[in-house]
Amino acid sequence: MRALGLLPLSLYIVSLLARASFAGEISLLVFPESRAVFQGGVVVISVSGKGLAGMRAFHRDREVPFFPTGESGSYRALLGVDLEERPGPMKVSIRARGKGEKKVPLVMQIKKKEFLTERLSVSAAFDRFDEKTLERIRREKKRIVRLWSGSSRQRWWRGRFVAPVPGEITSQFGRRRIINGSPRSPHGGVDLRASQGAEVVAANHGRVVLRDHFFFSGKSIVLDHGGGLYTMYFHLSEFRAEEGSQVRKGEVIGRVGMTGRVTGPHLHWGVRLNRARVDPFELLKGVWEERFQ
Ligand SMILES: [Zn+2]
Repeated sequence: MRALGLLPLSLYIVSLLARASFAGEISLLVFPESRAVFQGGVVVISVSGKGLAGMRAFHRDREVPFFPTGESGSYRALLGVDLEERPGPMKVSIRARGKGEKKVPLVMQIKKKEFLTERLSVSAAFDRFDEKTLERIRREKKRIVRLWSGSSRQRWWRGRFVAPVPGEITSQFGRRRIINGSPRSPHGGVDLRASQGAEVVAANHGRVVLRDHFFFSGKSIVLDHGGGLYTMYFHLSEFRAEEGSQVRKGEVIGRVGMTGRVTGPHLHWGVRLNRARVDPFELLKGVWEERFQ
């Protein structure tokens, strides 16, 4: 996305504008922020037009909700690209509702991102679990996955996100780990440096949809920010927010710890956007401030 930023704006407009007009009923301009997106990236899709009563977008079976901008006939959506999305063309179907419904295809180009790969040799006992633990791991995984389909349609998040702790990254997003020769699932978030007991704040307004102690992620909080956007806070030592409660951006929701399968205190911060695992630092970029008030 950075490389594209060097192109003059006029080039974007010529190359990215998808135009569709439907017998005078609906006319539509679809304006992707950037047509090429890296794995784990986030892109803003803007749509404006006449005769629109509502907008929806779908990527495979995932809905990418549009939000009205406040100006007549103008909508915006945030599209997340999973860190394991296959590089190449990715189709998004945009559906405009007015007099009837019209579909406009949008093709994004997914660019391969070079993620770090670590090879580790550990004793075989390190990740050999008894049947009871394996059952717990399966149950907890299911519980987390179920969350992604229950997001509020209302958007609670506003403007720019804030980092939950001020520390720098100690383990990068998307890092691949190969343990004793077998590849593990990639790192779905970032690890941030923080000392035991440091305050963890909500990255934006939202609702606490999960607060529990998990085998791998320890004391964990998941916030639903609405519209399919979630943030996760793992390995906490203490909870400071109740499940089901609404929290404000910057409000303390817990304290840093080393619960779960970790070797030292830090905060694991993760983001899900329309079910895709995206780089949390994508949400800290300034563009959100003006476009999603
Ligand atoms: Zn982590």
